[in-house]
Amino acid sequence: MGGLISMELPLVYHPGYVVSLPEGHRFPMLKFRQLYELLLADGVAHPEQFHTPELPPQEWIELVHTPDYVQAYCEGTLDAKAQRRIGLPWSPALVSRTCTAVGGTILTAQLALNHGLACNTAGGTHHAFPGYGSGFCIFNDLAIAARVLQQLGLVHKILIVDLDVHQGDGTAFIFENDPSVFTFSMHCEVNFPGTKQKSDLDVPLTAGMEDDVYLQTLAKYLIHLLSDVKPDLVLYDAGVDPHIGDRLGKLALTDTGIFRREMQVLSTCVAAEYPIACVIGGGYADDLKGLVYRHSLLHRAASEVYCQYRL
Ligand SMILES: [Zn+2]
Repeated sequence: MGGLISMELPLVYHPGYVVSLPEGHRFPMLKFRQLYELLLADGVAHPEQFHTPELPPQEWIELVHTPDYVQAYCEGTLDAKAQRRIGLPWSPALVSRTCTAVGGTILTAQLALNHGLACNTAGGTHHAFPGYGSGFCIFNDLAIAARVLQQLGLVHKILIVDLDVHQGDGTAFIFENDPSVFTFSMHCEVNFPGTKQKSDLDVPLTAGMEDDVYLQTLAKYLIHLLSDVKPDLVLYDAGVDPHIGDRLGKLALTDTGIFRREMQVLSTCVAAEYPIACVIGGGYADDLKGLVYRHSLLHRAASEVYCQYRL
C-alpha cells in the first residue's frame, strides 16, 4: 500500500478549513469542504492522498507579520477599521482556521519538495501585509511558507507565480527588497487592489481578456521566468477568479481555459524539474457548485501531470 500511495499526488486538507460565517456573507467559505468532497466523489483523489496540516508555531507567522498584528488578530483586539479591511467577521474559530490554512500551505510546500508536486485545497491569501490584513486575507500563507522553508534550510530561491485575477500586492510588498523570492503577478489591471504594489514582474491584463490571449501571454513569460530565476521551489496561486462567471473577476476565461492554464503551468515546471506547490486562491460566485468545479480543475490537472511524469 505504501508504494501505491507514494505514486499519487499529495493533497492537503483540514476539516477546520471551513468555519461558519453569518448567513448570506459574500465570502464563499463552504467551497473548501465542497472541493474536498468533489475530489473524492469524482474519483480525482481518494482519502489516503490527503495530508492533514498542523497549527504553525506563532514564530513562523512572525517571519512575515509584525508581532503586534499577530497578537491583536489572534486575541480579537484589532480595531474596527483594521477588522473591516479584512472583510471577515472575527471569531476564535476563524483565528484557528486562518492558522490552519497557513499550516496547510507550509505542508504543501514541504510535500512539493519531496514529491515534485503537491496541492492544497485552500490558501492564496496574497493581500495580507506584514502589519494588516485586507480583502479576505489575514495572514499571507504564500509568504510565510516561503520564509519557513528558507529558515528550515530546505530552499534558497523561491518563485511565486500568482495568477489570481487580483494583484498579489501583499506578497509583492513583503518581498520587494528580498532577492531570494521572485514575485510574478499576472492580474486584471482595473481590478482590486486600487493601489498596486511592485512585484518583481507584473503583467497587468486588460478587462475582458479571453482564453487564447491569456494563455499566450502566460506562455510568453513562464519559461523565461523559470530559466532566469532557477527557483528551488515554485509557489503557485491558482486563483480561478479570472473566470468569466466570477463575481469579482473582470476577465473572461472559460473552464477549458482554466484547465489549460493549470496544465501549462504544472507541466512547464514539472518538465523542467522545478518542484511546485499549489494553492487554490480566489474564486467568487453565487453558483457554489460551478465555483468548486473550477477550483477542482487544478487538482485534476495536477493528478494528470503527476501520473504523466511519474513523480
Ligand atoms: Zn482574487
